[in-house]
Amino acid sequence: MPRKKTPKFQSLTGMHDILPEDQKYFYEIYKTAKNIADFYGFGEITTPILEQAELFSRGVGMATDVVKKQMYTFRTKGGELVTLRPEGTASIVRAYIEHGMRTLPQPVKLWYFGPFFRYEKPQGGRYRQFWQFGFEIIGDASPVEDAQVILIFYKILEELKLKNLIIQINSIGDHQCRPYYKRLLGSYLRAHHSSLCADCRRRIKENPLRVLDCKEEKCQSIINSAPQILDHLCRECHDHFKEVLEYLDNLGLPYHLNPYLVRGLDYYTRTVFEIFAEQEEFHELGDQESKNNQEKKESLSIISKNALAGGGRYDTLVKLLGGKETPAFGAAGGVERIVEAMKFAKIKLARTQKPKIFLAQLGKQAKREILRLIEEFRQAKVPVAFSLSKDSLKSQLKLADRLGVKYTLILGQKEVVEGKIIIRNMQTGKQKITATKTIVQEMKKKISK
Ligand SMILES: [Zn+2]
Ligand SMILES: [Zn+2]
Repeated sequence: MPRKKTPKFQSLTGMHDILPEDQKYFYEIYKTAKNIADFYGFGEITTPILEQAELFSRGVGMATDVVKKQMYTFRTKGGELVTLRPEGTASIVRAYIEHGMRTLPQPVKLWYFGPFFRYEKPQGGRYRQFWQFGFEIIGDASPVEDAQVILIFYKILEELKLKNLIIQINSIGDHQCRPYYKRLLGSYLRAHHSSLCADCRRRIKENPLRVLDCKEEKCQSIINSAPQILDHLCRECHDHFKEVLEYLDNLGLPYHLNPYLVRGLDYYTRTVFEIFAEQEEFHELGDQESKNNQEKKESLSIISKNALAGGGRYDTLVKLLGGKETPAFGAAGGVERIVEAMKFAKIKLARTQKPKIFLAQLGKQAKREILRLIEEFRQAKVPVAFSLSKDSLKSQLKLADRLGVKYTLILGQKEVVEGKIIIRNMQTGKQKITATKTIVQEMKKKISK
């Protein structure tokens, strides 16, 4: 085998091409989200990929990992400090304020689908350019909106045929009750200072809630005995959360209370949630056991490490970005992670209709005529296959055979002059000659039999 040469140009670390075989998953996710968005009255919005850097440092929060470490920020030739958007909500809120959507009937419901950028360490399911779709409801504080968005994300994943979905949910309080909890958590964490990772020791000072996000094992055991915010919610936050859970109960959506779920962005208030898919993984048993029983496989149920979707309430963000005080709720789904989960679960997508007809041509005039005929078939919505680059009839018939079509239409010089075309039945090898003028209708009838 020849050694594979590294090409001169490759995609950047953490960036990836979406090849045709993956594109169909992307399209399926887009289609599913769009259908639900249309039904629930969400308008699609596309915002620019570049925004002022301050939109995110202010909106997402200076102390978050996203802003501190992961943003692609640079100065333009005009001297403006800009950022490749790391998430969708801040841009949507910017657009809501900029276009005066406050004067529209509230709440305003928007959804989006597009690429986002974070300078992260690329690892399983994480990319530096990644795709997300999101739903935002701006201008309503009631818990029913929280439940509606959670329902929408659950249903999108369910309609993509992902199984064993589980919602993790928490409330992180508001300006009334969170400051007290933060102090309580801060003093607990300071007492365990020496057992935390370096990042978390820094986080205690900036925002102790961030520590609850830490995935380091040494921090996990400290986190697991930390005080829980659900025990310290104020009356209003408590009632709001209770109502959200009642809606979920009523909808029959499965959820787990996760008192340590805080999400990595600063703008959340009250409800936060993430959705995971529990996956079955099969492990081959070791050599000895497999000798005893070739077929025996151990099944192990694991929960996907990365959330497929997540979001929460952000009642202070609109004001923070310069608008009037406006409550809102939103969430986003990670497209690459969902594609990965769909592949892992071996979910098959509906196949596009395979052509049953091949159009073959012989000679210059025939090639000209066949190009016109292909378009006639397209307009009649009859899929056909062809190869205009092949001149020999033999190689065209070989290709038609490989594609498994039922009929091949053959057009030669003589047929063009006579206004005729040959229909060859690929199974029987029988041929008949017929008029080109009516061929599309004739074939339409033949393949619908
Ligand atoms: Zn840590
Ligand atoms: Zn509260």
